[in-house]
Amino acid sequence: MAIPIHFVSGKVYPRLTGGRFNNWRIAFVIVTQLLYFGLPWLQWNGHQAVRYDFASMRGYLFGLTLLPQDLTYLAGTLIIAALGLFLWTMLAGRLWCGFSCPQTVYSQIMLWLERLLEGPPNARRKLDAAPWGAEKLLKKGGTQSLMLLFSLLTGLTLVGYFTPMRELAANLAAGHIGPWESLFALGYAAFTWLLAGHLREQVCKHMCPYARFQGAMFDDHTLLVAYDSARGEPRGARRKEAANVAAQGDCVDCGLCVQVCPTGIDIRNGLQYECIGCGLCADACDGVMDKLAAPRGLIRLTTQHALQHAPAPRAWQRPRALLYGGLIATLTLAMLVSLWLRQPFRVDILRDRAVMARENADGNIENAYALRIFNTLPQARQYRLVVSGEGVVAAQPDTLLQVPADGDRSFIVTVAGDPNVLARGSHPITFELQDAANPQQQVSEETRLLMP
Ligand code: SF4
Ligand code: SF4
Repeated sequence: MAIPIHFVSGKVYPRLTGGRFNNWRIAFVIVTQLLYFGLPWLQWNGHQAVRYDFASMRGYLFGLTLLPQDLTYLAGTLIIAALGLFLWTMLAGRLWCGFSCPQTVYSQIMLWLERLLEGPPNARRKLDAAPWGAEKLLKKGGTQSLMLLFSLLTGLTLVGYFTPMRELAANLAAGHIGPWESLFALGYAAFTWLLAGHLREQVCKHMCPYARFQGAMFDDHTLLVAYDSARGEPRGARRKEAANVAAQGDCVDCGLCVQVCPTGIDIRNGLQYECIGCGLCADACDGVMDKLAAPRGLIRLTTQHALQHAPAPRAWQRPRALLYGGLIATLTLAMLVSLWLRQPFRVDILRDRAVMARENADGNIENAYALRIFNTLPQARQYRLVVSGEGVVAAQPDTLLQVPADGDRSFIVTVAGDPNVLARGSHPITFELQDAANPQQQVSEETRLLMP
């Protein structure tokens, strides 16, 4: 669906409004910020519940410990997220933008801070136009300080997803936060302050790539905030004469829907690329309709199809939605089954290329391997190693291999092959590792035994 672009220039001073959509927006701000600021403080099985540790290359996600070998799960999650975004955009248009996109949420918070110190839109407009003086300096300085403080909190919290949050807070209190932590916190804080505190709706209109391609995902049944022109037009102020009222549409041209719009557009001009689907114009207009004792919904969440008074389509009439939904369900199920079957330890095997195959005292040919075992459990484990394959006569060490809790350890393993059985060349062998306390937990890896 092609969406026209109307450029709005100058700073936007949106007016505050109340109503259903506004309540949802506030709820989304609260929930997303509680999650963002709260998650790094949550502990789970002795770990921070959500954290990625670059030093040990381990990711913690509640009870799950993810290793570099689990990158497939990250890839799967990204594919599911992309498909989910396609599906959501097709069904619900820009509701993501209007309610839960971090840019929208942070812009909303910055706007609240600005309103707190500088007052309603008219006062802010006047203050911006006024020459610099003590009052302007105080108010602008106060607003920017609050915005910077909030931005810094977002930056420090982001770092807390990579460095243990409690350690970070203690270091911060002691005044010795590391250089990398400082760099990331300040960098993210600067982005938050610039994008949400200053550029705001300009990011949605001119910088966001999602805004550029989402028009291609819309169809006539996509939910969007729209003005019912059949009901609203011809617009104009209400007059007392009965003839005039009868000829007039429900829009009284009060302009409230434009004044509350965070992107400064007029929804009555039709579907526009700048509209983020926040629904604030619908809230404002509902308030006007209430005062006029007219039905609500002159601006409402609807579809192009419904605006033409056509019946809603059945699910099978939207094959794209079924395709996206089916792919998401299949991939999610496959990932859940794979996670369920996943063993709590992993092994990497590398042939030690520095040590050539050599003959041992028994006349067998020995190969050396570097074995690295990753234990994802919060308890130390012991593993039994069994090497099998045609002609394999021994593997050392033949004792249990100990790996610390939530850590990894490397071992050099030698495997001896019988030269009377194995011809010159490389032969497949299998390393099987078994948890000594839980023999049903085992992993196996294939490698090669070289006979010179
Ligand atoms: S708020 Fe409603 S009545 Fe007022 S101008 Fe907008 S559409 Fe018309
Ligand atoms: S037109 Fe309405 S829904 Fe779109 S951004 Fe403006 S206020 Fe939000």
